[in-house]
Amino acid sequence: MLELLLPQRCLACGQPGAQVCEPCVAALPRLRPPFCERCGAPTEWPVRRCAECAGRRIAFASARAAVAYDQRVRSIVAGWKEHGLRRLAALAADVVAAQLPRPDANVLAYVPADRDRGLKRGHHPAERLARELGARWELPVLDSLRRRGGAPRQRGLDVAARRRNVRGAFTARKTSGSVCLLDDVYTSGATASAAASTLRAAGARRVEVVTFARALRLR
Ligand SMILES: [Zn+2]
Ligand SMILES: [Zn+2]
Repeated sequence: MLELLLPQRCLACGQPGAQVCEPCVAALPRLRPPFCERCGAPTEWPVRRCAECAGRRIAFASARAAVAYDQRVRSIVAGWKEHGLRRLAALAADVVAAQLPRPDANVLAYVPADRDRGLKRGHHPAERLARELGARWELPVLDSLRRRGGAPRQRGLDVAARRRNVRGAFTARKTSGSVCLLDDVYTSGATASAAASTLRAAGARRVEVVTFARALRLR
């Protein structure tokens, strides 16, 4: 297995040892309430809408993330994408399961990989995370969503451009009931909302989003 051949250094701090060393696991910037009830942004007090999501059409009922997407988490997620490290998916799933309540959903789905990212089969964090969490939460994982070819990448685009870019980016199989949609990182919410909108058009009654990490806006 590739992961056995990699030099064993912590992805977050670079110290020799585990893929993510124990002190770095303990120091992960876990997100704690209060949150915006709708988009999950950390807020000063509980609110139903916040500066980040007010006035936006969002197709999911709620979004929650376990940790903030800071520099160290970024390095962990980058290593995860690059090498498809199975143990990282298990670690991320443990952190999510410890941090967030079990979703009020019948099934798990995941945001499918960009085809143009060159991810090898099985190296897709959102799918791995969904499978690990499916085992922990005892929920079936459906590969309901597909990406339509040709949508450009989201990186480097502003929020409005991201929203335009991902509209119509997905197709979904017929779906029903309440779906929990998994992804590795929540950035602007545009991808999650486009995917949720596609799931709802395919029959999902309600979609809640769960991610390992969330980019925080500077305020
Ligand atoms: Zn470390
Ligand atoms: Zn909000």
